[in-house]
Amino acid sequence: MPRPPLTVLLASPRGFCAGVDRAIQIVEVALEKYGAPVYVRHEIVHNRFVVEDLEAKGAVFVDELDEVPDGVPVIFSAHGVPKSVPAEARRRELLYVDATCPLVSKVHREAERHHAEGRQVVLIGHGGHPEVVGTMGQLPPGAVVLVEDVDEAVRLEVPDPSRLAYVTQTTLSVDDTAAIVEALKARFPEIHGPRQQDICYATTNRQMAVKAIAPRADALLVLGAPNSSNSMRLVEVARNQGCPAARLVQRATEIDWDGLGPVRTLGITAGASAPDVLIREVLAAARERFDVTVEEVTVGVEDVAFKLPRVLLDQNAPVPLAD
Ligand code: SF4
Repeated sequence: MPRPPLTVLLASPRGFCAGVDRAIQIVEVALEKYGAPVYVRHEIVHNRFVVEDLEAKGAVFVDELDEVPDGVPVIFSAHGVPKSVPAEARRRELLYVDATCPLVSKVHREAERHHAEGRQVVLIGHGGHPEVVGTMGQLPPGAVVLVEDVDEAVRLEVPDPSRLAYVTQTTLSVDDTAAIVEALKARFPEIHGPRQQDICYATTNRQMAVKAIAPRADALLVLGAPNSSNSMRLVEVARNQGCPAARLVQRATEIDWDGLGPVRTLGITAGASAPDVLIREVLAAARERFDVTVEEVTVGVEDVAFKLPRVLLDQNAPVPLAD
């Protein structure tokens, strides 16, 4: 029986960003340089496929530093860590490598600058996300106040409205964040903000690409993890752009094809922490059911790359003692 036709609109850019690429390379190079095991505090990036691949190579993922034995190297994840974490690693004389994305570190420095200049910092972000925990942990308790939505911005009370600044999580919805910033500016006209927004290039580009395909798609699949902020935002963006059948899936096996409804045009993208192999897996699954034609919709080309930390490149950097 002939398979029904399906046009796949493949969003571009999609998938791995420069910060995720660097974080994964950091673990791989550390494994080569120091040998297994290399400990990693938190999921290096929010993707089980990536984490399991690194586990198979000898990485050990833990929640906190007290689970890391003395004498083995430890890597901090791409989302960033509160200052207390490297401080504790130094106290224990652990060799640590910080895989925090340079674009997250930039937000940390902004928050520190505002604090040094006497401003209360408003962080726009999602409570409990590791990046938010890390950014809040750059400053003493109480120096950063978290705002999650427009309602909270409207109700925000601060001791001195003339000494206020905002920074944002890097992986938010561009549109929702603009509305929150607008609400803050309406209440606090003197508020300082970043010269260029903190939402990173990768988050912005992936949302733009979804905006380009969602209005044409009967359904849209976002490859990504439920705890990946930028992946969840892609689902929301697709729904806001008139594609209600937008779903987050981690692997092709999770796709409920019948649940998508009648589909002739399917949008596909991947969050910044999802490898391209997962896209290939979904395309292969689609080809088993449909006669697939792929149309790649490109809204921009990315050429961002970040250097690895010097401690991994320097041949003379200290090698930690084995247990
Ligand atoms: Fe860095 Fe943006 Fe990637 Fe996060 S999503 S790791 S901030 S480039």
